[in-house]
Amino acid sequence: MSDSLAFLPFTKPSIDEDTIAAVADVLRSGWLTSGPNVQKLEAQLSEYFGGRPVRTFNSGTCTMEIALRIAGIGAGDEVITTPNSWVATANVIIETGATPVFVDIDPKTHNIDLNKVEAVITPRTKAIIPVHMCGLPCDMDKLYELADKYKLRVVEDAAQAIGSSWKGKRIGAFGDFVSFSFQVNKNIMTGEGGCLVLNNAEEARLAEKYRLQGVTRSGLDGIDVDVLGGKYNMTDIAAAIGLGQMKHLAEFNAKRAELARHYFSSFGADFETQTGAELPVANFENSNWHMFHIVLPENVNRAVFMQQMLDKKIGLGYHYRAIHLFTYYRERGFTDGMFPIAERVGKQIVTLPLFPAMNKEDVERVVSAVKSCLL
Ligand SMILES: *Cc1c(COP(=O)(O)O)cnc(C)c1O
Repeated sequence: MSDSLAFLPFTKPSIDEDTIAAVADVLRSGWLTSGPNVQKLEAQLSEYFGGRPVRTFNSGTCTMEIALRIAGIGAGDEVITTPNSWVATANVIIETGATPVFVDIDPKTHNIDLNKVEAVITPRTKAIIPVHMCGLPCDMDKLYELADKYKLRVVEDAAQAIGSSWKGKRIGAFGDFVSFSFQVNKNIMTGEGGCLVLNNAEEARLAEKYRLQGVTRSGLDGIDVDVLGGKYNMTDIAAAIGLGQMKHLAEFNAKRAELARHYFSSFGADFETQTGAELPVANFENSNWHMFHIVLPENVNRAVFMQQMLDKKIGLGYHYRAIHLFTYYRERGFTDGMFPIAERVGKQIVTLPLFPAMNKEDVERVVSAVKSCLL
């Protein structure tokens, strides 16, 4: 019977016909690079984030790197971050010439453990990059208290957190630098892309320079380059996708929350004690439910589990393997045992299917497959 079931991936973007038509319009217009759609998307995002300046880029990764550059972070500086993230979060620190300093995560939220941050602050510490994992925000009061006390710049890696909130305020609408990704798996996407929420017009001007080779223009033929920039601008094709996605953001996130609620009720109150697996924090006030993960019990081999689920036509992800255990990071002195919680989670976590086009029957199918593997 399960042969007739379609494969269920762990995520899939929802794209409406209007968006497809809008992309076709851009292609027909002949203006494909950054243009009117980019400006329109930046204006909409700025409104979404309470009027703060917003600039778009061609990835969430370069968005964070540019934030660090605007903050003047470079060689000799230390930047605190979490080992439980996509490797981009730490890579951008090294790209600027600075040194990443990892702090282990909280076992429940899987976010950086802010109680352990003070212990690693040195006179060289210049910034902190917390990640709002799966869209569940860090403790923003504690984060900005620490930043104030030690004069640290904050680059929030909010790649997964569009539409998340803290005490009724939207993530991105307050704080220091806030970086979002529009990579295809995120709650809204532009194929590839990202945006940075900035503090003021001066930072926005710098962001524009860094994203286009450091160029400033004046008059019809005036051009100068006074900083080293790169090629990070968003195309108008991508921006047209983003504008189409923005129309559905609230609805997408509401659907995700509804499906997440259904996961919890389908797993049932006894699931954790019966299986030894861990469910995510059931936070329906702050999270945008970017992902729904479970941490498998120690005695379950993740690769075997993933194969069993694949045999039932269910695709899983794992977000993430601990960054410090990748070869490149080991070669820089990091080893096993340094951040035990991130290591355990990184080894045993799986991401279950969750995307707006799913329905409750899909959730139930995943839950019964998980239970049949673990019980
Ligand atoms: C997706 C993601 C990134 C990178 O974003 P890209 O747009 O793929 O460059 C960085 N950090 C986290 C936590 C992410 O989920």
